[in-house]
Amino acid sequence: MLKAEFRHFLSNPIFFIEASRILSGISKIVSIRPFPKIGFEFDFCRANGLKIVVLETRISRILSNAKFSESRILILTRDERFAKRLISLEKKILNGKLDFEKGRRKLIMLEGKLFGYPDCCSKAYAKSKTSLPLETKLIIDAIERGIFSQLILGLRKSQILSFPQFFTLNFYPCEADCKRAERVGLKIKRSLGEFGFVFSLRTMLNALYLLRIAYKSAHHSGILSKVAREFLKTLKKEELEMIEAVAEVDYEEFSNNFIRSLMKRYYDRSGREHNSDWDG
Ligand SMILES: [Zn+2]
Repeated sequence: MLKAEFRHFLSNPIFFIEASRILSGISKIVSIRPFPKIGFEFDFCRANGLKIVVLETRISRILSNAKFSESRILILTRDERFAKRLISLEKKILNGKLDFEKGRRKLIMLEGKLFGYPDCCSKAYAKSKTSLPLETKLIIDAIERGIFSQLILGLRKSQILSFPQFFTLNFYPCEADCKRAERVGLKIKRSLGEFGFVFSLRTMLNALYLLRIAYKSAHHSGILSKVAREFLKTLKKEELEMIEAVAEVDYEEFSNNFIRSLMKRYYDRSGREHNSDWDG
């Protein structure tokens, strides 16, 4: 169970939710945003044996039409060897010891395993490199299953809903209601103990992120844009304005701010103890 002081957690909720995935054994690595060398995050890492590793990659995991794109991400882990495994597999592909597409598939599967994603979702993601992108398929599925309608209703009524299958950003479940992904999400929620409701909030924001992609795609062409346009037509003006408002924000910063303001209200109302001298 995550042990963190309220005001520490409040300073960067997403960091603590991600770190909890490692501490509870669900993930070996998680990707994080940079944070200052002096601060709650840094102290928390030191106290819990978490290391920060820079992972530089050259093989694109995202694009199906481009093989290479350089990226540099920060990884949180208990053991640097997990990152090294990824780097050495990439090297094998780059040196031609492994066939490119086969190697990339292996890379996606290994990465998925380290991030704690269900096999069915990693497989679907790897497969989608040669067909319709999983992200597109997932968003259409979410529209058809009424997930975004539920989300909007929840936001309108200020209800906290939970979409555990969307447990982290940049993860795409194989289906909008993948039961294995849901189970991973529920495990993360339990690992957060008293902060479990914050996890639910975050899954709402992650679902909203997918809706934001649908909203943006409506202006383009393609299969998603058609389905998205039909769905957006069913929404009220103020609901469309709400999606538009988040269309261009820095999403992690927005998510953290959103969670913070609700956490403060929630804890104030329920009269639970927290350090009220925290004011940003
Ligand atoms: Zn799945």
